[in-house]
Amino acid sequence: MDLQLLIAQWSGALPPGFVRPAILTEGTDRCAQPRCTRKVAIKSNGEPAKSCSRCLERRARSCKRRRAALVAEGGCRRCAYRKRLEGDFLCTRCREDRDAEHAQKRQDALDAAAIEEFAAQLERVHQASNLDCGISPWNARPKPQPSAAYWSPLPDPEPREEREWANSISDTGWRYRRH
Ligand SMILES: [Zn+2]
Ligand SMILES: [Zn+2]
Repeated sequence: MDLQLLIAQWSGALPPGFVRPAILTEGTDRCAQPRCTRKVAIKSNGEPAKSCSRCLERRARSCKRRRAALVAEGGCRRCAYRKRLEGDFLCTRCREDRDAEHAQKRQDALDAAAIEEFAAQLERVHQASNLDCGISPWNARPKPQPSAAYWSPLPDPEPREEREWANSISDTGWRYRRH
C-alpha cells in the first residue's frame, strides 16, 4: 500500500509532486504589469499566472531584497515585518505558528507510523463472532405491536336484550335520555 496515495485519498489533496495536465489556452492573456506586452506565464499547476515569467522573476527579486533589508534591520526571519524576539530569529506570532506546525508534523508522523504498522499486519483468518452469526440487538425480532383486534372490542357472548343485570329495576334511565 502506498502511504502517499493513502494520505492523498484521505485528505482529498493531490500527492506532492503531482503535475496537473496543462490547460492549453489559445489566447493567453497579456502580462498584467504596465508596459509589458508579453504573454502570461503558466504556473506549475497548469493555471495561467497574472504576469509573464520575467515580471514574476523581477517581482520575486524585489520581494527578496525588501525582505533581506527588513531582516537586516532586526525583522523576523519569517514574516520580516515584526521585530524579532530576544535571542530568537522569529517574532512572537511566527514562533507560535512554527510551534503549532511542528506539533502538527509530529502528530502526522505518529499517525503515519500507526497507519504503516496497521498496513504491515498480516491478513488474519476471519473469526466468526456472535455479531457475524446475526446475534445482535440490531437484528433482533421486531417488537410485537398491538393489532386491530386489541383495540376493537370482542362481540358480546350474550345478546344485549338478555343482559338483565345491566338494567336497573327501579331506574329506567329516563334522566339520561333526551326523547
Ligand atoms: Zn510582464
Ligand atoms: Zn514573524
